[in-house]
Amino acid sequence: MYGCTWFDVDELLSYNGSTMPETIPLQDSVVYGPIHSRRLGASLGINILPLTRKVCASNCVYCQYGWTVPSSSGERLPRAPQLLAEMEQAFQRHVAAQTRVDCVTFAGNGEPTIHPDLLELVIETKRLRDRYFPRAQVGILSDATQLGRGSVREAMRLLDVRYLKFDAADEATWRRINLPLGRLSFDEFLRQLQTLPDIVLQSLFMQGTYDNTNEVHLAAWVEQVRTIRPRSVQVYTTDRGTAAAGITEVPRATLQAIADRLVTTTGIPADVYD
Ligand code: SF4
Repeated sequence: MYGCTWFDVDELLSYNGSTMPETIPLQDSVVYGPIHSRRLGASLGINILPLTRKVCASNCVYCQYGWTVPSSSGERLPRAPQLLAEMEQAFQRHVAAQTRVDCVTFAGNGEPTIHPDLLELVIETKRLRDRYFPRAQVGILSDATQLGRGSVREAMRLLDVRYLKFDAADEATWRRINLPLGRLSFDEFLRQLQTLPDIVLQSLFMQGTYDNTNEVHLAAWVEQVRTIRPRSVQVYTTDRGTAAAGITEVPRATLQAIADRLVTTTGIPADVYD
């Protein structure tokens, strides 16, 4: 068992969630991509979670992998030695192929910060980066629910860049659209974000059956982002299938208006990404 402050990994591995089909296939390897995006450039993804199902501390209604579903397979998390051996082999293949790599990003089939070896993996991944892709940054995409754990905070500090999810400005909206599975309160979630320096927030806006673009929520979101004081904010919308039915994309003009409002009101840089 991997004990921790906010939840129990064994609980997440056997989480009894809904069983809607996945919307896109899971990553089927430890190293995947590179994925090319305006947000990250050529990003070599690192998946430290199982290959056969998503394991996450959230159950976002817009998740591109579908709902967090239960499993009776008994599959455990792969541990650091195995993951690092696979990473090094993949890095060597990409160097031989002269693959362009701008960043190496912990992401993949769920929430990377739930892995008990995260700190070791970050330290060793930076060593591999220095050896194989010395100009690349090492980053993470995270739901920010585990920042209260000392080892996660230390891993965050050692990373070159931290992209943290912030879609909801209040407890009710957070529980409705991100469905955090642990015992964390929104106030504590917010406090952890406010006290982690040099972060980039990623805020996904959606409409349809779930909508976080109404005026009351947007006004609260701007004020909460002001209290977090991130380095910058990435504003975006869904571009793939979603776990819940009936979620629709937000028009680009609306996303731009949200980003502009944040910049004008707080001075915090914000950009819209497709
Ligand atoms: S945190 Fe990411 S992987 Fe987890 S449910 Fe939300 S969108 Fe999906």
